[in-house]
Amino acid sequence: MNQERILCMEKNTTISSIYKMDNAWVEEVELELTSSCNLDCPLCARNYENNAHLLSGGQRPYNDLIDQLDSYTNLKRCCLAGIISEPTLYKHFFDLIEYLKSRDITIELYTNGNTHNELWWEELGKLCDESIKVIFTVCGSNQALHEK
Ligand code: SF4
Repeated sequence: MNQERILCMEKNTTISSIYKMDNAWVEEVELELTSSCNLDCPLCARNYENNAHLLSGGQRPYNDLIDQLDSYTNLKRCCLAGIISEPTLYKHFFDLIEYLKSRDITIELYTNGNTHNELWWEELGKLCDESIKVIFTVCGSNQALHEK
C-alpha cells in the first residue's frame, strides 16, 4: 500500500493527515454542521444503526470550524448539507454564511426548510446572491411519508 494513503482514524485525524496533502489542494468541502435534525424522516440515514454514534446533537465550535476553513486557502465551493443533520440549526449559521461570502466561496445549502420563522428566512434571503444556491429537500417518497 502506498504509505501516503494509509488511513489513520485517530481522534484528530484530518484529511491532510490521511492523504499527506497540502491543504491548498482542497477546493470544495461539505460540512455536516449539527448532527441533529428537527424532523424524523423514515428514509433518513439517521435511522441507520451504524450511524447512531454520529447523533450526538453536538455542534462544532465556530472558531474550530473557521480555523479549519482558513487552512484551505484555495477553497472555492462549500456545501452545507449533511447526511444526518439539518444545517440551518447551526447556531452560527449566518456568521458562517458571511465568512464564506467574504472569501468569495460559493455555497450550496440543502435544507428541509422547516426550521425557522419567516423573519429568519428573510434574513437569509438578504444574504443571498448569485454565489448562494438554496435547495429545499423533500425527504419522503410519498405524501404520507413526507408528513410523518
Ligand atoms: S430532514 Fe434530512 S436530516 Fe432531517 S430527518 Fe429528514 S432526511 Fe434526515
